[in-house]
Amino acid sequence: MANFYSDELISEVIAANDIVDIASGYMKLQRSGNGYKGLCPFHSEKTPSFHISADKQLYHCFGCGVGGSSLQFIMNIENLDFVEALKFLADRAKISLPEENSDENNNEFYEKRQAIYKVNAAAAKYFNKTLFSDQGKIAQRYVSSRQLDSKTAVSFGLGYANPDIADCTEYLKAEGFSEEIILAAGLAKRSTKTNGLYDFFRDRLMFPIIDVRGNVIAFGGRILGDGVPKYLNSADTIVFNKSKTLYALNFAKHSCHDRIILCEGYMDVIALHKSGFTNAVATLGTALTEQHTKIISRYTKEVVLCYDSDGAGQKATAAAIELLKAAGVKTKVLTLPGAKDPDEYIKKMGASAFESLIFASENATLYKISKLKQQYNIDNIEEKIELTNKMAEIFAGIENTIEREFLMKEVAVQLDISFESIDAQVKLLMKNNAAKQAEKEFHDQSKKDKQRFTSENTEFMSECKLISLMFAHSAVYNDLNDKISDNFFKVKGCSELLKQLRSAKQKRVNIDIATAMSSVPPEYSDKLSYAILKEQPYTNPIKAATEIYNSILKNRTSPEKDINSPEELSKIIDMIKKQKNK
Ligand SMILES: [Zn+2]
Repeated sequence: MANFYSDELISEVIAANDIVDIASGYMKLQRSGNGYKGLCPFHSEKTPSFHISADKQLYHCFGCGVGGSSLQFIMNIENLDFVEALKFLADRAKISLPEENSDENNNEFYEKRQAIYKVNAAAAKYFNKTLFSDQGKIAQRYVSSRQLDSKTAVSFGLGYANPDIADCTEYLKAEGFSEEIILAAGLAKRSTKTNGLYDFFRDRLMFPIIDVRGNVIAFGGRILGDGVPKYLNSADTIVFNKSKTLYALNFAKHSCHDRIILCEGYMDVIALHKSGFTNAVATLGTALTEQHTKIISRYTKEVVLCYDSDGAGQKATAAAIELLKAAGVKTKVLTLPGAKDPDEYIKKMGASAFESLIFASENATLYKISKLKQQYNIDNIEEKIELTNKMAEIFAGIENTIEREFLMKEVAVQLDISFESIDAQVKLLMKNNAAKQAEKEFHDQSKKDKQRFTSENTEFMSECKLISLMFAHSAVYNDLNDKISDNFFKVKGCSELLKQLRSAKQKRVNIDIATAMSSVPPEYSDKLSYAILKEQPYTNPIKAATEIYNSILKNRTSPEKDINSPEELSKIIDMIKKQKNK
């Protein structure tokens, strides 16, 4: 299974870390049946859908669908890979792990990640060398036109991808990297005409994207000639997910405790770091996502938004304010007088002027109010009424009573309206909002139940249930062992679990499902944990297993049945709800 650590050792580490214990370090848990539930730390919600089974040592969120063992919980919440999470848990339980020097039992997935880190690091080195060579003159001129010194270029690992069709690929192949890994890292693409590889980045200034552990996970490239797009990022790979990555967080993580400065692009971040603002990060050509805000909230309590002053930047600011608010991060907005971006501002006005802007940056609510005021003429009575109503909507979204009352009083004076009438309107809106939220949560849940039912109908659920029964009851295992071949399970996660169960049985050691699941990729553990935690206890496990086994065989020979009428569907949803409430 996973990497070179033995199954026994992994099992020991997992057994020494109770999942209830681990999870309660990150969230508040309450007892529910024979398990626990709480507000999910991986998505924002008001009613708890995160469940833990203490006896199975597994978790699953019925809201966002993540799930697995304590190891996967740590991988998810701490953003670690398998080995790092294992080390984290071993440390926590004071179990010492052997050095990483054996190569038996390699895990394909783990190996591939490591290979991609290596090929990316080699490519970064190659781009960097090219930048400082004769070939890199054009890029050097660009770098100095942006007033970046070579020290900054070196510390950010800047590089140059030359215009040749496959120079980088040829270099990497000569260094011993396979075409498969170069492609998997997104550094090259295969031509449909010639079937050969060509470089993904050409004639671009290169920005390596480095994760908080120091691995080069992807690249961004700025075009130097006339091509488009201006900025090009690596496509998502098994080590890189744009919506979860913040540029320069590897540097900022040491200095962002008080606040993070969030800006739009690579050049802004580099200009800020160069001027001493080492807590600046940026998203990678995408809007801020909920996943980004989760990561941010782990590092800091306050974000200063420093987006471009153009229309797109202002729109992005408004969206970011709402997302950061949902993640519970205090947000301020920095406005750049007389400059379009922080880079330009610092060049014109200097670093200390920028520092003053940070301290003068506006609380997100005040920012929203001042933006709103600009859109209305308060000498016109109709516009004034509309503005007051819009303001009331903003106030209704403020959870802090003191902040809300303070702002309402100020606006009442400014707009010459009584505090009581604004207050009454705000209270009414707050009541409506709460009702709407409850309705939305209910609606989302029914939608999910609907999707779930369709997936429960499939072989997927049956396979998960069957493998879970085989783990839980030796009698079931013994009963089915002869009938089930190594490739009986079509769900990859299930066949991986069977492999582990068989190997443990051969060695005459015990293995529980939480241990086995720890090395299954997340796309499977999310679903497996769902199937397993949803499963009802069986009075006769052998009989249940035989029925499931037979139904799998039967399904494989008959066409799938679909639900067609809405009436049929709502009956099924009701049935699931009833089951859930039992
Ligand atoms: Zn969740």
